[in-house]
This record gives sequence, structure tokens and C-alpha cells, in this order.
Amino acid sequence: MIQSHGYAGHSASTPLTPFSFERRDPKERDVVVEILYSGVCHSDIHSVRNEWKNAVYPMVPGHEIIGRVTAVGSEVSRFRVGDTVGVGVIVDSCRTCPSCSNDEEQYCETGATLTYGVKDRYGDMTYGGYSSNIVVDEHFVHTVKEKKHLAGVAPLLCAGITTYSPLRHWNVGPNMKVGVVGLGGLGHMGLKFAHSFGAHVVQFTTSESKIADAKRLGADEVVISKDADAMKKQASSFDFILDTVSAPHNINALLQLLKRDATYAQVGLPDTPPTIFMGDLLFRRRNMSGSIIGGMKETQEMLDYCAEKGITADIELISIDKINEAFERVVKADVKYRFVIDMATLKK
Ligand code: NAP
Ligand code: ZN
Ligand code: ZN
Repeated sequence: MIQSHGYAGHSASTPLTPFSFERRDPKERDVVVEILYSGVCHSDIHSVRNEWKNAVYPMVPGHEIIGRVTAVGSEVSRFRVGDTVGVGVIVDSCRTCPSCSNDEEQYCETGATLTYGVKDRYGDMTYGGYSSNIVVDEHFVHTVKEKKHLAGVAPLLCAGITTYSPLRHWNVGPNMKVGVVGLGGLGHMGLKFAHSFGAHVVQFTTSESKIADAKRLGADEVVISKDADAMKKQASSFDFILDTVSAPHNINALLQLLKRDATYAQVGLPDTPPTIFMGDLLFRRRNMSGSIIGGMKETQEMLDYCAEKGITADIELISIDKINEAFERVVKADVKYRFVIDMATLKK
């Protein structure tokens, strides 16, 4: 077995604390990765605090992983020792169902294996990226071409692909008016991508303090979503809206901003279901849809796109002993715009 250490949650209401555990020895197609950087996703907080009611403890969160390959199994063909790689939200899937066969492993019909908090095909619990190393089948490992700003690449593995995928799926591009709701980890990546794809982008935020940043990140307009008059001025004018908000909020006020036949894509996953007035969907034949992360092929495509365009996340780098403070600040929407843990601080 491979020794690993990191930080784990032990209950819904206690802080993360140092934790040692073991990972499997690499099988033929496994890659062993020494973790350099680990992003802090709001899903880590929902999970550790059992807000989705499926937590298994001890839980080592983290699914925005950048690291260096330290060993490979005998049949690994895509990676060598020393390569810089990324690992995201899933580490396995059945590989044969219609979704897997269509490069949409995230929708695996038997259930993809999450990077942490579930049992894998060998019956072992998966432990995530707030740790020293990880062992992953090479199919779920990505090549990282960007070399200069690796900490800013980590959030692409979840926040990046989760926003890139629906924007691509719904063909966001020039001559489209696109809304991004919530300027957090996902939102700021959605804003960067929608702007990069050539859309006219309107950022919705509850935080007046983020207006200048939203414009710097590519927003053509910024609307304070609590301002009813400002919202009314945008009525029935959007081709597409991407909602990244992590808490319950007024979705009807946003649905009313879509044109006829336009689409609302939900990627935020608050713990309580919203109340939706169906009239706001019916009368303009509006669509409501959802999306989770992206498949392995699309994740690599997104990483290559970002390397080519120089897109990384705006981050605050922290040492791992600051993780509990970071969780508190994410919940207060007080992060610009993603915390990333410098995993070298785990050794200190
Ligand atoms: P985050 O960094 O905390 O960003 C969420 C943003 O939502 C906040 O910055 C804030 O933006 C806004 N917000 C928070 N509370 C609000 C409220 N009560 N009303 C209105 N707006 C509010 O979180 P994240 O990491 O981007 O994740 C966002 C959500 O996506 C989470 O629920 C997470 O679990 C989910 N997620 C889903 C997927 C997927 O595959 N679908 C992947 C990753 C994460 P402003 O300050 O601008 O208002
Ligand atoms: Zn995530
Ligand atoms: Zn499958």
C-alpha cells in the first residue's frame, strides 16, 4: 500500500484535521500522482458538512488536483514519471454504457466513481486531493500543458470544465447575450469562457464589491440581482443563462430574463430545491436544463483551450492549515475567486 496523508472531515460539524491513510498500490493502468495544488470547491463544503445527505467519514475532500507523476503501471501509455497532470471530480466509470461510450463518463449509467467519499470498484473508499498523493486509472488523468501558473490551473479541473461544458453544449458564441449568475469559483470561470467564446456577457451578482472585477474578467454589463428595477430592464433579452449559485435564490426572477426558446442551465447545487413558477417556462417556451462537470475528452479539450488562450483561475493560494478559515470565507462569498491549497505546506 502507498502511505498518504492529508486533511479529513470526521463529522458534519467539526473542522478538518490532519489524517493519515493508505492508497492502493498502482495496478497496470494506474498513475501515481504527487499532489502539488488542490482547489477548494464549494462542493467540498456541501459534502463535508453533509448538506447533500450522503457524507461518509472520514472524508478527504478535493477534486481540483494538479500534480506530478511519480510512478506508472506497466500498461500506462499516456504518462511518464515527471509529467505534470490534472485529476478532477471522477476517477472511474464503467467505460461501456452509452454515456461512457459517448465520452460522457460523468453521466455513466451505473454511476461514475467520485474522487472522494465513495467506494471504488475495489471496495476501497476514495479520498480526494487535500492529500499528499493519489492513485488514478490513466483514463481519468489529464495532460497539463500550461507550466507557469500551475496553481491557477487546478480549479479548471472542476470549476473550469463545469462551466465550459454547458457553454459548449448550448453553442454559446458571438451574437448571443449570455448571463452568468454568481461570481464565485464557477461563475468567474463561466464569465471568462463566455467572454472568450465571443458572447455579450452580463454578470449577475449579489455583491456590489465585485462589480469592477466582473468587468475586468470580461463582463460587458454587471447587474446586481437584488435590484428589482435593474432586473426588469433585462426582461426577455437573454439567449442563455448559466446559474452557478450555491444557495437557494430567486430563479423565477432570472427565468423571466430569457427570450422565447432560450435556455437556463443550472450548475449550482444548493441543498434545498427551488420553487419555480411554471408560467415563466410555459409562456415563452423557455428551457430549463442542468449539467455536471464534463467527460474526459472534453476536459482535456478545455485544458488545451485554456493553455492556448492563457486562461487560468484567479486564485488565493493558502497553506493547508488555513483550510477551515477558507471554508468559512467561501460560504460568505468572500473569495477572489478560488482558494487553492499549496500542498507543499502539508510537509511543514
Ligand atoms: P462559490 O465559489 O461559493 O460561488 C457561489 C456564488 O454564488 C457566490 O460567490 C455568490 O456570488 C453566489 N451566492 C452565494 N450565496 C448566494 C445567495 N444566497 N443568493 C444569491 N447568490 C449567492 O461556489 P462554487 O465553488 O462556484 O460552486 C457553486 C455551486 O456549484 C455549488 O453549489 C457547488 O456545489 C456546485 N457545483 C456544481 C458542479 C456541477 O458539476 N454541476 C461542479 C462544481 C460545483 P455573488 O457574490 O456574485 O452573488
Ligand atoms: Zn467541484
Ligand atoms: Zn458508464
